[in-house]
Amino acid sequence: MLAGDKQIELILLKKFNLLTSIMDKKSSAFLQSVETNFDRASELLGLSDDLAKKIKVTNSTYVVRFGVRLRNQMQTFTGYRSVHSEHLEPVKGGIRYAPYANQNEVEALASLMTYKCALMDIPFGGAKGALAIDPNDWTNKELEKITRRFTQELAKRDLISPSQNVPAPDVGTGEREMAWMADEYKKLNPTNLNAWACVTGKPLGRGGIAGRTEATGRGVQYTLQEFFRHKEDVEKTGLTSKLSDQRIIIQGLGNVGYHAALFLSQQDGCRITHVLEKDGAIINENGIDISELYLHIQNTSSIRGYRGFTSSGSEMLEADADILIPAAMEGVINEENAPLIKTPLIIEAANGPITSSGDEILRQRGVIIIPDFCANAGGVTVSYFEWIKNLTHIRFGRMQRRQLESQFESLIQGIEKLQEKSFPPDLRDSVLSGATEINLVRSGLEDTMREGYNAITTLWNQNKNIPDLRTAAMMIAVDRIAKSYISIGI
Ligand code: NAD
Repeated sequence: MLAGDKQIELILLKKFNLLTSIMDKKSSAFLQSVETNFDRASELLGLSDDLAKKIKVTNSTYVVRFGVRLRNQMQTFTGYRSVHSEHLEPVKGGIRYAPYANQNEVEALASLMTYKCALMDIPFGGAKGALAIDPNDWTNKELEKITRRFTQELAKRDLISPSQNVPAPDVGTGEREMAWMADEYKKLNPTNLNAWACVTGKPLGRGGIAGRTEATGRGVQYTLQEFFRHKEDVEKTGLTSKLSDQRIIIQGLGNVGYHAALFLSQQDGCRITHVLEKDGAIINENGIDISELYLHIQNTSSIRGYRGFTSSGSEMLEADADILIPAAMEGVINEENAPLIKTPLIIEAANGPITSSGDEILRQRGVIIIPDFCANAGGVTVSYFEWIKNLTHIRFGRMQRRQLESQFESLIQGIEKLQEKSFPPDLRDSVLSGATEINLVRSGLEDTMREGYNAITTLWNQNKNIPDLRTAAMMIAVDRIAKSYISIGI
């Protein structure tokens, strides 16, 4: 190796070690934030210390280091699968591909999954997984080989299984990775009739469900719509009562951020004034065209070059707007920037975007925060529907749709006969069409998100000792888990 090459390698190694140590600190702060919230909620619930301890700890974390022969070398990868709570099975949680993934981060995310499922009344325990890898470093073929090998490692230990442990997409993974995992699992378990239910978030043609990809962003939209139906909550923010009046900052235009921004701008009439990405930000006070910007990112792999581009980074979180939607990663709002945040309302689309010290400052400043394990539960909700679809082996709506349509047709004919007038043509089509799978998925998702928000705001507004929505949400979740433990005699 040349001296110059060696120097570059050393610089890269130093950079890697520095980033790893920053991420280690960030992830232990993340885990601590979740635990602080848990402690506050269990104290308010008066939970006994022994039961609180049992619920709080992560049951198990499996760390695997496996080799894959690529580029004429044996490459070693590190993967994690953490099971936080098995009070209900299967346990559920995404798998992320991220270079600095580590155990604390995976455990924090797994515990959030437990609380999320309990709060949203989804019958799963909580889990999470990660592979410490930058997907951009590998070709598609290589990623497939790595993913299939990782699946084998998980399958050996029942850490992927329709009845026990069901992964889903997260940061750096999507439909494609889920299809590879499902296919590998099916190969290992050819006689298992329910093999497709081993992961969710699969493509529609490979056992997936309509509306899964958009689900988390769509859930953020439904939650915000519900927030604006609660006058007493809107008043606390000082915002006007209409969602369509609001100016929004969004951080991260990936799966979650893109869909939330798209629906809120196109369907609710909000103005997305700031989009923050890892290579800069786009600002347009008149509202950014989200589909056009997304297309630009798809074509150029960057937001650079799009009109309104500025190289400013996370300081844009402090810009003047009405609603802030962090949809990228954890720990981006902390004690340093929390005093500077100007939006009176934050909805956490990402997992853990606010540290506990940042949370404390924002609470004292009166900023209203809709917590992650309520706001971003859309993904696991539709994953639940997908899992049911895989187990029942039938598309939602298949049995009823045409029967309902003929029933509605007879009803319309009856009305027309009685009234001696024809039914308004503009209403005819919507009355006549029976629900398709996407209609049913969106209806179930909307119901779940609205119920989730209603539960936490009701508890919060009823009890002056509960400081915020996050604590109320955690109290509901922990209370349900505690009852479940007690009922099974633990
Ligand atoms: P993703 O990888 O599709 O998108 C993340 C986006 O954030 C990317 O566009 C990335 O470039 C951007 N980003 C990364 N670092 C950034 C930074 N420092 N500043 C600004 N932008 C940055 O991931 P996703 O699936 O959209 O997940 C985003 C968040 O939502 C994560 O916290 C994830 O755990 C959470 N979440 C995802 C789902 C889901 O269904 N995908 C469900 C629940 C929660």
